[in-house]
Amino acid sequence: MAEIYDETHELFRASFRAFVEAEMAPRREEWESEGITDRSVYAAAGRHGFTGMAIPEEYGGGGVDDFRFNAVISEELARAGLGGAGLGLTLHNDVTTPYFLEYCNEEQSRRWLPGIASGELITAIAMTEPGTGSDLASIATTAVRDGDEYVVNGAKTFITNGINSDLVITVCRTGEGRGGLSLIILERGMEGFERGRNLDKIGQHSADTAELFFSDVRVPVANRLGEEGKGLEYLAFNLAQERLSLAVYGLAASRSALDWTVEYVKERSAFGQSVASFQNTKFVLAEVATEVEVTTSFINDCMIEHNEGGLGSTQAAMAKLWASELQGRTLDRCLQLFGGYGYMSEYPIGPAYADARITRIYGGTSEIMKTIISKDVLG
Ligand SMILES: Cc1cc2nc3c(=O)[nH]c(=O)nc-3n(C[C@H](O)[C@H](O)[C@H](O)COP(=O)(O)OP(=O)(O)OC[C@H]3O[C@@H](n4cnc5c(N)ncnc54)[C@H](O)[C@@H]3O)c2cc1C
Repeated sequence: MAEIYDETHELFRASFRAFVEAEMAPRREEWESEGITDRSVYAAAGRHGFTGMAIPEEYGGGGVDDFRFNAVISEELARAGLGGAGLGLTLHNDVTTPYFLEYCNEEQSRRWLPGIASGELITAIAMTEPGTGSDLASIATTAVRDGDEYVVNGAKTFITNGINSDLVITVCRTGEGRGGLSLIILERGMEGFERGRNLDKIGQHSADTAELFFSDVRVPVANRLGEEGKGLEYLAFNLAQERLSLAVYGLAASRSALDWTVEYVKERSAFGQSVASFQNTKFVLAEVATEVEVTTSFINDCMIEHNEGGLGSTQAAMAKLWASELQGRTLDRCLQLFGGYGYMSEYPIGPAYADARITRIYGGTSEIMKTIISKDVLG
């Protein structure tokens, strides 16, 4: 298989792995029990160049727009079993930063990009509402123009970084129909902007997933990203990278599960022989390894196309659908080979199994991915 990483990526990997081992992995259990990752980890990551890699140097970023660096971060987080603690960091780099890069005007760039690059301004994106998730056109949070301000009312739910975030890209209704959505940045501390519960989930316990409430929040028009009414168009553009990011994580989590399982079955014995010696174990691992290898080729192609600006929405949907389904299947099959220990939190496979369940749902469900793909297939 063609190698897509060069020496620069491998140096970056070594440096991020050291950061994970020193600053993140030792605090995993603490964050899992608290239901949130300490926000100081973002600024620490920023100091080492692990946030804002794509942000131009003049705004304090790394100045290199190469998605492979983002992928290296995902792979290392998956390897360390940090699916929950790492979620906010990958969201910040892979999902939200591109909106700021693409749509900020000069004044907004000066105001926000340095903090995003340094990890001192943590970001989130709020699309989902209690009444609508998959169907973005039904978003009901309103932003009504009043002079130089919008008055925002409504509620969002399931928002990653919901508690930690300082800047929230909030999808608001500024007009009727599909052309009536706009992206407005709500900032920590604005009057009438309240955080609700940090939601209790079955996995990704270190990730803060929260409700947000807006009650007559007065937001300067200068906080709107891009043009009014272009929200859905902007979302469609950026969702390709969000889906690729989830696909990369799904594949990385599958590869990590395979590695953990190979190590475990060689050490564990049953009926006087190693678990690795059973034909079932060999066949399961052969199938998983094959699927991981074949998927790697496709995801690598997607990354190269994305770097060259050519990743289409259908291909991104295929990558997300395939890799998240692979992740679910792989984690389930690998956990089975751990027996009862697979169900215990002390081995990474158990928490990674629970963490995996969401990837078929967020960023667009598998059913929505199939809907997008089928439109292309049927023409
Ligand atoms: C841990 C977590 C983190 C999240 N982070 C964020 C975030 O940071 N920002 C954010 O905005 N959102 C976030 N979400 C929300 C997530 O993106 C939505 O939950 C997801 O898009 C599905 O929306 P829904 O929950 O409203 O389900 P629904 O849209 O109500 O779907 C319910 C079921 O119906 C199916 N369905 C819906 N429409 C169709 C259709 N046309 N054809 C066939 N089947 C269909 C779905 O596939 C699903 O199986 C997060 C969710 C979770 C759980």
